[in-house]
Amino acid sequence: MRYYFHMPRSVQTLGINLVELRAWAIHRSKIFFDFLALLKETEQWDNERFEAYQSKHMRTIVNYAYRHVPFYRRLYDDHGVDISQIRTVDDLEQLPIITKADLSSNYTQLISPVEKRPLQMGTSGTTGTPLHFLISREQDVLNYAIAYRRDLWGGYTRDSLIARFVGDKPVKDCNDRSLVRRSYLMNRLIFPSYCLSSDNFPRIFDILRKHRVKFIQAYPSTAYILAKYLEFEDTYYDLDALFYSSEPMYDHQREFIEKRFHTQFFGFYGQRERIISATECSENRYHLSMIDGITEIVRNGEVLADGEKGFTVTTSLHNYAMPFIRYALNDFTGYTGNSCDCGRTLPTIFPVDAWLGDFIVSPKGMIYSALLFLSPTEGMRNIAESQVIQEDVDRISINIVTQEGFSTSDYLRLKDSFDTMFGSEFELKINLVNNIPQTGSFKKRFAINKLGEDYIEKAFERE
Ligand SMILES: [Zn+2]
Repeated sequence: MRYYFHMPRSVQTLGINLVELRAWAIHRSKIFFDFLALLKETEQWDNERFEAYQSKHMRTIVNYAYRHVPFYRRLYDDHGVDISQIRTVDDLEQLPIITKADLSSNYTQLISPVEKRPLQMGTSGTTGTPLHFLISREQDVLNYAIAYRRDLWGGYTRDSLIARFVGDKPVKDCNDRSLVRRSYLMNRLIFPSYCLSSDNFPRIFDILRKHRVKFIQAYPSTAYILAKYLEFEDTYYDLDALFYSSEPMYDHQREFIEKRFHTQFFGFYGQRERIISATECSENRYHLSMIDGITEIVRNGEVLADGEKGFTVTTSLHNYAMPFIRYALNDFTGYTGNSCDCGRTLPTIFPVDAWLGDFIVSPKGMIYSALLFLSPTEGMRNIAESQVIQEDVDRISINIVTQEGFSTSDYLRLKDSFDTMFGSEFELKINLVNNIPQTGSFKKRFAINKLGEDYIEKAFERE
């Protein structure tokens, strides 16, 4: 990244295309098409077929984990579990639930010594708790297929041009003349979602209009800001589909974005651990993918029936690199038990409730999704939790709960990343704290803005 920004634009474009080569190759691999065909087939399966598929893969991975993964061998022996008795999805209840804390304190014990070349993944965590884990190649390709299936539901094909406003960092300077970088391989226009300001909105929409972009992928908070600009200019932009993920879409955001973009919404629910996923259909219902993992809805140790809401306990069916078996993901949702008018038999779940997306607004009127402020903490295993607070228009606090091994050089590296990204606009303070308090809704807020209710409106009026 450090070198990337010093290169001329043509070399940056080449660099982006090289990075996307991997995704391009996966999208053309045999295993990708096999998964895509299977996913299509499952859209008409009955309960018996789902049950048979999940039970078969669950048995295989539980046995594998007991044989090859030291953590599970010890855990199941300690609990006196007879592995031969775990045969169907219903038998899962006999296995102990494992937590995110188990994952972070038993990292090496959870690695399968058999699986070759797994992907290393990390997350700053939607609750601000970073986690690290391994994903098998197979699980990764399945995830690509599931994501692509969502795009197909929205009418997108790989010939369509799509504009992305997510976590990419295509330009260093928001005054960059072109503002966007193009991935020719994946047919994407990659925008910097950290460059949303009254200076840049007209340029962004000029680019979208020039290329006749009909598909946008964005965080709900980012799409909302773009729609706010359209309202400010009293204008509209027609889209075929808006693809979103990473944050929930609130009803008021959806109505507002719909009005300005005249679009359908196709959300994706997933997590970095890539255990389970759900895709929003044209009826705005979330269908579980079912073949990637098993979703149990649990409260106080009890598995709940359809129609009830609780916390997710999940079992991955293809990740042999680091098996997740009855892993408490703890997202709050439930099976609706209802059929869907789109005709797909995949079970539907209630939209996953999470935090209220917060923004950080700079003195110059830049509007940032607060997620961007936590990006420097990604990949740092010795940080337990983090939280960003906008104290005033030019003052940001970052609260960090460190773990063993956090050193002064880690602190300086972190400070350097923050300063490089945001130092010209904010006075940044990093606080090392003992814990981050929970809110009433079981989630920890990873971002808090103290500027007052109409802080976004005010940013539009700033020049
Ligand atoms: Zn549906």
